[in-house]
Amino acid sequence: MKRLHLTAAGLALILTGCGGAAPDETAAPDGAGALALVGAQLIDATGAPPVADSVVVVRDGRIESAGPRDATPVPDGAETLDVSGKTIIPGLVNLHVHYREGPEEMERQFRSQLHYGVTTARSIGSDSPERVAHLLASAGRSDAPRTYTAGTGFSYPGGFNAAGRNAPTTEEEARELVRNQIALGVHFIKMWVNAVAEPGLKIPPEIRAAIIDEAIRNGAIPVAHIDDEADGRQLVEAGLRDFLHSTVLTFGPGAGVPVDDPAPSPEFIRMCLDSGAYFTPTLSIVQNRWHFAEHPELLDDPELRAAFGMYNPDALAGWDEPARRAEVVDDPGFEDRKAAFRQVQDFVKTMHDAGVAVALGNDAGTPNVPFGWGMHHEMELYVEAGLTPMDAIVAATATGAAQMPPVGEADYGTLEAGKVADLIVLNADPLADITNTLEIDRVMRLGEWVDRSGFVSAP
Ligand SMILES: [Zn+2]
Repeated sequence: MKRLHLTAAGLALILTGCGGAAPDETAAPDGAGALALVGAQLIDATGAPPVADSVVVVRDGRIESAGPRDATPVPDGAETLDVSGKTIIPGLVNLHVHYREGPEEMERQFRSQLHYGVTTARSIGSDSPERVAHLLASAGRSDAPRTYTAGTGFSYPGGFNAAGRNAPTTEEEARELVRNQIALGVHFIKMWVNAVAEPGLKIPPEIRAAIIDEAIRNGAIPVAHIDDEADGRQLVEAGLRDFLHSTVLTFGPGAGVPVDDPAPSPEFIRMCLDSGAYFTPTLSIVQNRWHFAEHPELLDDPELRAAFGMYNPDALAGWDEPARRAEVVDDPGFEDRKAAFRQVQDFVKTMHDAGVAVALGNDAGTPNVPFGWGMHHEMELYVEAGLTPMDAIVAATATGAAQMPPVGEADYGTLEAGKVADLIVLNADPLADITNTLEIDRVMRLGEWVDRSGFVSAP
């Protein structure tokens, strides 16, 4: 019915044009089914400056037009919503999450993400076939984020995160296991390339190369967790472009103290620029090990408590204990851990300034990174690293979207005509203070308002 109406309106426009008559009232756009958000500051995440007084028109799940009020007419008859004094940003794109447990729990994790405006997520390496199926089946739902999955990731027997994962010892086995994952419908193939205390248990270079080659041949994107530049170089040479974490020692033996030479080399930066390799540095997985010990007042926020308690009530209960918090901040290694973390933040700033894309991901679903809330904290950590709030917002939206398959063709992540209407309306200006992204008025997914009621009392 709606489509027929639109066609008739389009026909009227064409007929008017054919007749050579000047546009008149009858040629005005028809606003049936359209919603106009009027008067907000618009951050479209294209990198353009903010628009102070904007109109965003949404229809049939997409942005029909977005721009300055004086250049963006509200279609006749459109429903309008006065959002003056507010700011509109795109829905957030989290490139590093780990969903937990079964479909019922995943639904709660979806709810938490949408409550906080995370409208796209990449689940990267810990999905059983059951979770892969649930993620694929959730496509197109306005009450779930858009998701991508890497299924079950790859390590080496006895190696980093190897338990329950694919751990091939030959190239042939690696190729077969990659094909098994792709047969499930996964979008990415993830590997953990990281040392453990016992030497020799990192995935050997020839097996990494086989994984990369087999993934690309079969239409999946290879992605690697690293914390070492030599591994980064080998992986780029083997054809990988998608990195998690950084080249600063973070997880391997000896991590947790500052390293002598933390900066990525000019040669590696050049390799990334020439190949288009990019990073999702994932700061929260490290910093959230102490953040709530240093800032227990954050846990007074009922929404954060709900998001935290919904997936990991034990961790929340731990941070509520003064003794547990003291254990963390009074640890003799605490200052070293913070200094080592600062080196990873410097990596983000160095890569960003060099022009290497840095997207946002936070390891949501690991013990101290709550779904939804954690993405806002990751943006805060980017600003602390030296990015502007605008840069952090672009990294958290457009940059990640541009890397999802088909690469470079995302129809979301920015707020422009034709893009999907995934957006957040904020009550305060995030350019003045990035933590204002938590001042959420409402969230839209696929052109529909997310039901954010009852979240703090949700089971
Ligand atoms: Zn992870």
